[in-house]
Amino acid sequence: MTRTVKCPTCGKEIPWSSNQPWRPFCSERCKLIDLGEWASESHRIPGQPASPQHDDESEHHH
Ligand SMILES: [Zn+2]
Repeated sequence: MTRTVKCPTCGKEIPWSSNQPWRPFCSERCKLIDLGEWASESHRIPGQPASPQHDDESEHHH
């Protein structure tokens, strides 16, 4: 009985065994593609809020 999994990237069925170093991906390429997409998603910054900067220290009132 061989368990199979589908590659998350291309959907190809591969046997779930120790002979598949890239499981659940079918190949290193599919793994890198998936990781790349994940990385680009996490690194995407919609917009940094403008941080107000006060120059109070440079302005002294006597
Ligand atoms: Zn694949």
